[in-house]
Amino acid sequence: MSKIQDKMFLEIRNKDIFNQAQQYAFDYIENVFERNVFPTQEALNNLSIFDEELPVDSTNAKSVIEQLNKYGSPATTATLGGKYFGFVCGSAVPVGLAAKNLGTYWDQAPAMNVLSPIGSKLESVVEKWLIDLFNLPKQSSAGFVSGTSTANLCGLAAARYRILERNNWDINKNGLRNAPQIRIVTGKQSHSTVLKAIGILGLGTESIEWVDVDNQGRIITELIPELDENTILILQAGNVNSGAFDDFEKICERAKKTNTWVHIDGAFGLWAEAVNDLKYLTKGINNATSWAVDGHKTLNTPYDCGIILCSDQEAMTSALHMSGSYIVESTERDGMFYTPEMSRRARIIELWSIMKYLGKNGIDEMILTMHQRAKQFAEEIGKIRGFYVENDIVFNQVIVRCDNDKITEQVLNNIQMLRECWLGGSMWYGKKVMRVSICSWATTKNDITKSVKSFEKALELEITNANNV
Ligand SMILES: *Cc1c(COP(=O)(O)O)cnc(C)c1O
Repeated sequence: MSKIQDKMFLEIRNKDIFNQAQQYAFDYIENVFERNVFPTQEALNNLSIFDEELPVDSTNAKSVIEQLNKYGSPATTATLGGKYFGFVCGSAVPVGLAAKNLGTYWDQAPAMNVLSPIGSKLESVVEKWLIDLFNLPKQSSAGFVSGTSTANLCGLAAARYRILERNNWDINKNGLRNAPQIRIVTGKQSHSTVLKAIGILGLGTESIEWVDVDNQGRIITELIPELDENTILILQAGNVNSGAFDDFEKICERAKKTNTWVHIDGAFGLWAEAVNDLKYLTKGINNATSWAVDGHKTLNTPYDCGIILCSDQEAMTSALHMSGSYIVESTERDGMFYTPEMSRRARIIELWSIMKYLGKNGIDEMILTMHQRAKQFAEEIGKIRGFYVENDIVFNQVIVRCDNDKITEQVLNNIQMLRECWLGGSMWYGKKVMRVSICSWATTKNDITKSVKSFEKALELEITNANNV
């Protein structure tokens, strides 16, 4: 045995580093709900400890874990807690963390059934659960990818395959050169990852037929141009700023008549379909063709967990096809036919655990609570002079601004500096705004009230500073 093998077998036998890491993890989750949401300046400065050359000799494993904990842990953002409102993030349901921990030791890659029977089984089961939960056509398939960026790419790749195939053009063989034209229609507030996918797929953002949106960011149904079967229409369930939903019922019905491929970017919003009081928002999505959604946002799975669902299985697997003499196809599910990757981690373990744990009612309750906290936030902040809520609170997003751009920007800086909660900024119809996304199972009424107080403090600081100038 080589020296490095000796060393590693010893680490497996005595389990010291595993126990050590476990203890650090427990200390972390115990404090993450109370600590400063953004790392302190000291923690950020200390990150310079990682700037070193690759060690020449093998290091002590214990010291590796120690360094990671001592300098890494304080430099995390507390996205797991209840007062992180940045981007659209989501916490992690505890059972998902525990399952991920176990799955870490399994280290499975569900590319093929023979490579991971358990991974393949869980993917088949969750595929059915999702189709049922979102009320999608029974024949739909699911691919388990890293996030909605990739899910959008897969959905649009399937659309590209199908539209060209209808025109007797095999994209896999012939490429895009001299290919028949594909039309792309989408709203002016489509997510940047949709545009990225259009770029990667060689469809070109210049070819997009943009449709105007209303004051909530919804595509204006009446302005959608004539559709046909050479068109991909991209809709949105959950505008990244306002949380607004396109009018799927009217639009998808119309698209169905013209055999138009409808792709829905539902990164966080598709989950409205799983909530009795909110499913009016997603009415009609079952008439679309592909749907992209995240686990790691609204459902609160750990990162990275995205899903592409598609009712045209042949288009999806043809678009993401792969072959090789050593590929072992089985009668069970081979996950790689539904994703761009061959090897990937078995993220399905966490997704399955969380869905099994919550059940339909648990999912409903968890997401409805996020919506209620968003309404609470809007109500409490709206009562404070100098803050204005800019959107209708239909889901989990709240857009807030102050009297002018300069004050909004300064107040946002102050909130971030206070570190009691965290959120980012955006532009909304020409004005600087603050974006509050309530996306964590852990956000309590008290967290909202405390965070609103932090907003108030930040505004007072700005007023004091302005008076002192
Ligand atoms: C977050 C988000 C994406 C991108 O999803 P990732 O999981 O970050 O890749 C796409 N569309 C919308 C509407 C989003 O909110």
